[in-house]
Amino acid sequence: TKWTKDRIIADAHENNVHFIRLMFTDIRGTIKNVEIPLTQLEKALENNMTFDGSSIEGFVRIEESDMYLIPDYDSWMIFNWDVPSDGGRIACLICDVDTTKREPFLGDPRGNLRRVLDKMEALGFSSFNLGPEPEFFLLKLDEDGRPTMDLNDDGGYFDFAPTDLGENCRRDIVLELERLDFEIEASHHEVAPGQHEIDWKYNDAIRACDKIQLFKLIVKTVARRHNLYATFMPKPIYGESGSGMHFNVSLFDKEGKNAFFDESTPDQLSKDAHYFIGGLIKHASAYTAICNPLVNSYKRLVEGYEAPVYIAWSERNRSPLIRIPSSRGNSTRIELRSVDPSANPYLALAVILQAGLDGIENKIEPPMPIDRNIYTMTPEERMAEGVFDLPSSLSEAIAEFEASPIMRDALGPHISGNFIAEKTMEFESYKKQVTQWELNKYLMMY
Ligand code: ADP
Ligand code: GLU
Ligand code: MG
Ligand code: MG
Repeated sequence: TKWTKDRIIADAHENNVHFIRLMFTDIRGTIKNVEIPLTQLEKALENNMTFDGSSIEGFVRIEESDMYLIPDYDSWMIFNWDVPSDGGRIACLICDVDTTKREPFLGDPRGNLRRVLDKMEALGFSSFNLGPEPEFFLLKLDEDGRPTMDLNDDGGYFDFAPTDLGENCRRDIVLELERLDFEIEASHHEVAPGQHEIDWKYNDAIRACDKIQLFKLIVKTVARRHNLYATFMPKPIYGESGSGMHFNVSLFDKEGKNAFFDESTPDQLSKDAHYFIGGLIKHASAYTAICNPLVNSYKRLVEGYEAPVYIAWSERNRSPLIRIPSSRGNSTRIELRSVDPSANPYLALAVILQAGLDGIENKIEPPMPIDRNIYTMTPEERMAEGVFDLPSSLSEAIAEFEASPIMRDALGPHISGNFIAEKTMEFESYKKQVTQWELNKYLMMY
């Protein structure tokens, strides 16, 4: 690895770093940070920084509140903005969380993902790669700096809009990301007005998830500078496309070769690729709650907007849950299209990997691929092809997750229990709401 304690400290001094953010992610997917001054950096790098875990919702009980932050040296990064009044800079380190007994804390999503990655290694693979495709909306701010539902443009997919606010903002986001070691592959306007997408080169599981978290932080920060608000809410506008975060994934073997690629088969996919797809199809209903964790996520998973509604896979079509992009060789990958950007990436990747590995371990054959538009098939045709529906609400998805020992095991009892409890409350609170739609529809009719 590139960074050592001494090199990080020297780099901090050379670059006039005054503050360091020690960052981690809670179960909900929110980035938390403890900011320390430069004087505390050495102590932090020696794994001696503690914080009060009980102040974080769903993390721990008060009796066991002290937690240690264990910085990942390779995540050392100096931000280019946020220069405080004295001209010093801010850096960050992404951390795992340990208990006072110096054991990995079971409620830490990042540490939990490592646990599933260990299983992957035991099965003979060296890495699980993730290339995410996050989409988001840019909204105008009002005079008080609060987001409005005013979209800043009316462009569409790949439109040229030379004077557009959103385009300038997106370009600034890309520049910032490039300075922070993101290898940007594509950046474009998406289908809906005000909707954008930025893609970067895939990384190994943990780093890829860290980057998703940093990405959201950077997008929101740069958008503010342009007087815009960036939202990763899955379906902010009725009647327009929602925002997904497709996960492109692949396994590499111990020789660093793509284990999903096999030149000798008709589709050039390996046996393991087929079994991985088999696992993803088999457990699809059970991991949906983790990949689509909001009440609002299910407003995106409807027909007609390139978001999946049915559990199927295809080599061509964009309507099913899983698509196999046509690239082969080292780029052979599976695209899971259900994931949305409100998902906690560490948890989502843990359940996806566990589902795929279950497919490999138990040689689960996937059903036949469906190469036509599933939206236009009748329910009878879908039934005949063995195509089932994804859960259509958060409550259905929670019930499916709860009923799956394999998916609960991917997150461990601490995270699963907290997740189910919190999401059940969220749905119960939503269920009692009287919405504008109901008032419009019923108030004057009855
Ligand atoms: P789409 O076909 O949906 O438009 P993109 O080309 O926009 O997909 O995005 C492709 C993503 O897949 C990028 O993040 C890219 O780095 C990633 N990718 C490429 N090869 C692999 C691989 N072997 N494993 C995982 N992700 C990969
Ligand atoms: N916005 C679509 C979704 O909700 C995806 C569009 C695309 O294929 O990039 O998943
Ligand atoms: Mg897209
Ligand atoms: Mg895609």
